[in-house]
Amino acid sequence: MWIKTFVRNYGLYILLESQWTRLHVPQVLRVFWLTRLTEQAIYIMLASNETNSAALLGSLRYLLVRGCETVIAVLGMTSVLSGISHQIGCAMQVFLVVEDPEDRSIGAVSAILFFILALQNGLTSLEPEKRFMRLYRNFCLLFTAILHFIHNMVSPLLFSLSASRNMSVNRHARALLVCLFLFTAPILFLYYLWAHHSLSTWLLAVTAFSIEVVIKVVISLLIYTLFMVDAFRSSMWEQLDDYVYYIRATGNSIEFIFGIFLFFNGAWILLFESGGTIRALMMCIHAYFNIWCQAIAGWKTFIKRRHAVHKINSLPQASAEQLRAFEDVCAICYQELTTARITRCNHYFHSACLSKWLYLQDTCPLCHKTLYNVQETNNESISLLNNDQEQEQQQQQQQQQQQQQHEHHD
Ligand SMILES: [Zn+2]
Ligand SMILES: [Zn+2]
Repeated sequence: MWIKTFVRNYGLYILLESQWTRLHVPQVLRVFWLTRLTEQAIYIMLASNETNSAALLGSLRYLLVRGCETVIAVLGMTSVLSGISHQIGCAMQVFLVVEDPEDRSIGAVSAILFFILALQNGLTSLEPEKRFMRLYRNFCLLFTAILHFIHNMVSPLLFSLSASRNMSVNRHARALLVCLFLFTAPILFLYYLWAHHSLSTWLLAVTAFSIEVVIKVVISLLIYTLFMVDAFRSSMWEQLDDYVYYIRATGNSIEFIFGIFLFFNGAWILLFESGGTIRALMMCIHAYFNIWCQAIAGWKTFIKRRHAVHKINSLPQASAEQLRAFEDVCAICYQELTTARITRCNHYFHSACLSKWLYLQDTCPLCHKTLYNVQETNNESISLLNNDQEQEQQQQQQQQQQQQQHEHHD
């Protein structure tokens, strides 16, 4: 009864979440796994008298393999790993001096990733030797995922530091240091992997993931540099927005290509190496979010920009004389007008500022009159084909609209 009312009032998700916290599921799993590990470790210590490093490594390996032999054990291991990556996330936040509780999902994300990888490979049903290899490979993938996560943490910080003109050398240095780590760590990691392993679909996937981190870091650093240059300039930098867009677009295109590559890599594994429903499901999710949604978002931004540029170019440029007569700042950025576009309502703006505004709205920021109506031109061309009556009706409608607008402003 209680569950029924709860679900009706708050939904199933809230119920599961509250029970998850109430029963301390992650903590219970963690304690279970660590107790199990300790018990096995004590057995090994009692059984063997050797204390050299080879024997130690061997028993460590044995413990790891035993640590994921059942589904519950895998869950326990997942919980421990999630705790570790959560601590890494917290340490990173402390190091970068940012406080954003939403960013701490790193623990949950790595837990889900690790568990899905384990299910996907059928970790529990493998022979001990093969299981160890699988586990090792999953750890490598998890490591690159954590690098991605750290990048997601540091890149907005870089942008906010440079755009808000925060000149605290300490904070900039910390963020840049993390970037340096994110740049070198994947390269060294790949160097090690390619030296020790032969070519496989797994190696290709890890390589693609790691190169993606390096590219993302380079893109973030490039944009950061542009913003910093802009911060030290005294005058308005009109092309900044375009440059940032081109750099972002390049980065997103490369990421998109990697997404497609990873899809084919996954398809290869599915068809020729190891199939399974979970892998097929994950492929669908990857195809939808990382390929389809990315392509749609990129295309939409591209179209929006093209429309904005088209609209801006249709407005007349202010002459030096007009600017001198106007003698005022741009109403969007409050900076001096060295060049300006004049709207139909005779207002002056930087073309860069106006184009950013046009992504959001089609009206003048000051007087709300339509700046440029794309549909209007279309209507005109259509109305040429239509009969005169309709044309009259349209004119009447337009007049009414204009009257309404005037009344509104009065
Ligand atoms: Zn401006
Ligand atoms: Zn206006």
